[in-house]
Amino acid sequence: MSKNRRFDDCRRSTGTMKPAEFRYERPDSLADAIELLDDPDSDAAPLAGGQSLMPMMNFRLAQPDVLVDLNGIAELCGIAVENGHLRIGAMNRYSELASYPDLSSLAPLLAKALPHIAHSAIRNRGTIGGSLALADPAAELPAVMLALQAVIHVIGPNGRRNLAADGFFLGPFETALAQADLIESVSIPVSDSASRFGFHEVCRRHGDYAMAGAAVANAGTRPRIALFSVADRALRATGAEAVLARNPDDLDSAIAALEEIGFAGDLNGGPDAKRQWAGAVLRRAWAEATA
Ligand SMILES: Cc1cc2nc3c(=O)[nH]c(=O)nc-3n(C[C@H](O)[C@H](O)[C@H](O)COP(=O)(O)OP(=O)(O)OC[C@H]3O[C@@H](n4cnc5c(N)ncnc54)[C@H](O)[C@@H]3O)c2cc1C
Repeated sequence: MSKNRRFDDCRRSTGTMKPAEFRYERPDSLADAIELLDDPDSDAAPLAGGQSLMPMMNFRLAQPDVLVDLNGIAELCGIAVENGHLRIGAMNRYSELASYPDLSSLAPLLAKALPHIAHSAIRNRGTIGGSLALADPAAELPAVMLALQAVIHVIGPNGRRNLAADGFFLGPFETALAQADLIESVSIPVSDSASRFGFHEVCRRHGDYAMAGAAVANAGTRPRIALFSVADRALRATGAEAVLARNPDDLDSAIAALEEIGFAGDLNGGPDAKRQWAGAVLRRAWAEATA
């Protein structure tokens, strides 16, 4: 079981508000960070924006004995267009991404999704790498990465490797990352002018975690649809994609095809409610993408 799975209990906990003792390290290079994380005698954890990890440490749902602060590592920052892809450093904050010039033409789906993440104070600290590593089933960015066919660039003790978003999210708060791995950056294809995108989520108040959400990419060509906050992880709705690739007007059949998904309830509702909400958010995201 990934240690991240413990984080799931954070929102329900009423326990202590002080973290257990830990050693704080602030390396200024990736190599030093990985060496600290790879120490077999410690249970070290990387710290990015701290918007999830710090509360979990305060509730003692996470108790790393070494905290490896990534905030001094320049190699993890920066956004650039390279070979037809937008490459985003893991430590880029949501707010930095949202204000990146031309984001809405380079990556329209990302631009649509970012304002839905929490509130501005959290968007000023939270990072794309932290969001993907945490893999909260209710988070927006894992679904956006699935819809955009993102590649997640990982670095660990044995070097670098590239992981497709499709195989990255394994379960609730569980990813394909190993203990000493770090997300270094993420690449998404730059949007072409023919691509169409849609994003919709329902939540009780703006800024709350979604009760259900849908991200649609490439409507009209090869649609990719990802759902979040309806199952144990963000996932693609491949049956619905196939229906809409054949007939973009057949939304009823696409919604019926969502039956293949293993809907899972949370604090907001049970699996049946999630099934209904998934259909509603898909309908609206698809309408936006094809308008
Ligand atoms: C009140 C509130 C509301 C929120 N609402 C939303 C919301 O609506 N939608 C949403 O998506 N999120 C929401 N969040 C969570 C927020 O987006 C967090 O910022 C995000 O989940 C984690 O990002 P972080 O940079 O803060 O990571 P941290 O909290 O620092 O770390 C999270 C986890 O990722 C690991 N980690 C961090 N960076 C890396 C890396 N580069 N490589 C490997 N592992 C890494 C850490 O060790 C830890 O396990 C909310 C948080 C709060 C407090």
